[in-house]
Amino acid sequence: MCKKNDGLKVICPICNQVISDFEEYISDPCEHVLLIYTDAVCGEFVHIGAGMETVASEMEYSVEEGDYDYLSDAMKHYEQLYPECIMVETETEGMSCGPCSNTEYVLIKGQ
Ligand SMILES: [Zn+2]
Repeated sequence: MCKKNDGLKVICPICNQVISDFEEYISDPCEHVLLIYTDAVCGEFVHIGAGMETVASEMEYSVEEGDYDYLSDAMKHYEQLYPECIMVETETEGMSCGPCSNTEYVLIKGQ
């Protein structure tokens, strides 16, 4: 498990609520958050917003099918399809048994 960098948080650009602080995920982030994906460990969605279950499973399926190498690529494609969506990408470096880093991708519904 990575240690978080002090003060590094993912903030919603719409309402400025904290979405994640890399140590624990906010279980009930603001309504703008559609998907949160982290590439830590094996890579998984850590939050799927209301009504996004189908989109999330389609993304997972398209990665299994080889359409995308990573779920983050599927999310970037989704962001391009829907101009109101914003993708926030935050990388953190930490130390556990050695240097480790992980990237968090948050898909946000803009206004
Ligand atoms: Zn928000």
